[in-house]
Amino acid sequence: MQQKKNIAIVGTGLVGSLLALHLRQKGHTVTVFDRRPDIRTVEFSGRSINLAMSNRGWKALREAGVEEEVRKLAIPLYRRAMHINSSPVYFQNYGKEGEAIYSISRGVLNRKMIDLAEAAGAEFRFEEKVWEVDLSEAKLYTGESEKGNWEEYDYDLIFGADGAFSRVRHKMQRQSRFNYSQHFLDVGYKELRIPANEDGTHKLDKNSFHIWPRGKFMLIAMPNLDGSFTCTLFLPFEGENSFETITTEAAAENFFSEFFPDIQHEISNLTRDFFKNPTSALVTVKCYPWTYYDKIALVGDAAHAIVPFYGQGMNAGFEDISELSRLEEEYGDDWEQIFKHYQQLRKPNADAVAELSYRNFLEMSSKTADEQFLLRKKIEKRFAEKHPEQWIPVYSRVTFSEAPYAEALKLGDQQAAIMDEVMKIPEIEEKWDSPEVEQKMLELLEK
Ligand SMILES: Cc1cc2nc3c(=O)[nH]c(=O)nc-3n(C[C@H](O)[C@H](O)[C@H](O)COP(=O)(O)OP(=O)(O)OC[C@H]3O[C@@H](n4cnc5c(N)ncnc54)[C@H](O)[C@@H]3O)c2cc1C
Repeated sequence: MQQKKNIAIVGTGLVGSLLALHLRQKGHTVTVFDRRPDIRTVEFSGRSINLAMSNRGWKALREAGVEEEVRKLAIPLYRRAMHINSSPVYFQNYGKEGEAIYSISRGVLNRKMIDLAEAAGAEFRFEEKVWEVDLSEAKLYTGESEKGNWEEYDYDLIFGADGAFSRVRHKMQRQSRFNYSQHFLDVGYKELRIPANEDGTHKLDKNSFHIWPRGKFMLIAMPNLDGSFTCTLFLPFEGENSFETITTEAAAENFFSEFFPDIQHEISNLTRDFFKNPTSALVTVKCYPWTYYDKIALVGDAAHAIVPFYGQGMNAGFEDISELSRLEEEYGDDWEQIFKHYQQLRKPNADAVAELSYRNFLEMSSKTADEQFLLRKKIEKRFAEKHPEQWIPVYSRVTFSEAPYAEALKLGDQQAAIMDEVMKIPEIEEKWDSPEVEQKMLELLEK
């Protein structure tokens, strides 16, 4: 049993609320601060951002004993549905029979997680913004404004779960030898919505993750429980087809009828929402160290924000909590050791999933129209079907396993090196499906 501590968490997002639940289950006193109002009391705006939950997320929820409750809120997606202009939709299974990622509304999940943590005894303090942190004393200062009067709170430990633009991390950045980088993509995103049919059913196959890849931009859609789909348009900020050039309703109409004619009329209030809904940026944040002695630790996006092209940001944040929980079992009351091992174990994996996510962005945005790339993917797929034990797709390793992200990245590099060799085989375009190519791949795998 651990000695009971008085712990503050900054941020009631997905990771902060799971951490609150976990720490309460260990018997600690937990107070969670958020600058925003209680999401459970805010009227639903009609927009619903959704996320894909995969194995790592489920594992953390299982460990907290809430997996089954959360599963009721999620829709399994067994396959990708690829919508290529002027071709029929084609489906690609994600993994083996029964393997799925799960579509879940961020708002619905967040409300549920706060409910669960509160029922377990965590105190939530909404609309209380943290402005300052005393790292060595584990004190927090909250207030109306940066210059106004602040409330001081004293804790044993503080967790920064305050997202990509973390205030807690900001304070840590002022120390010597604290490394920090942020990188924005030149692509942003906007959410749109496909409403349910009149009878409440979904307009598209509800067990698929729908993708309309268009080279430098793409549209995706994930189902919600109410029969609607949330669509996300990823589009460059500047350039030929970009947020910068689509400035009028007519331009938006033309853009959708040229590139997304099959879905254009299903999206509700397309041109109105295109201008009403915000355009958001995508950032990768890296930093180190993530902890300060036995006092402060960063979790989730505050430690490692990544671009969403692998659907792993929340999953990685939930895995932080799994790892912390495991280390608490190992090191008991020695929080300095817990924090030290936590950051040493998690940092290489966070960097790996950031890299994997960025590579997926590059693949999706620049390579989907490249013949050589498509051939490469076709060869890999064929080989994986024939030799499933020898060629585990990196996507499966990331999504359907709990093996460290760093191993998935290494596997991806090894497979890429093999494919570089395979693509050098003369007339590979003709013989991609031949025993010669298969043999070559088996030999390269032996090396
Ligand atoms: C377009 C998009 C799609 C995504 N898709 C997926 C997906 O499919 N699967 C997946 O796993 N992940 C996905 N993600 C990533 C996922 O959304 C994040 O990784 C996750 O929400 C991070 O949770 P968090 O709790 O760490 O931070 P956040 O959700 O950002 O929560 C931080 C909280 O801290 C509060 N806060 C901030 N500053 C202060 C302060 N000074 N004082 C008090 N409170 C403060 C904020 O109000 C907020 O409530 C996606 C992200 C994007 C942008």
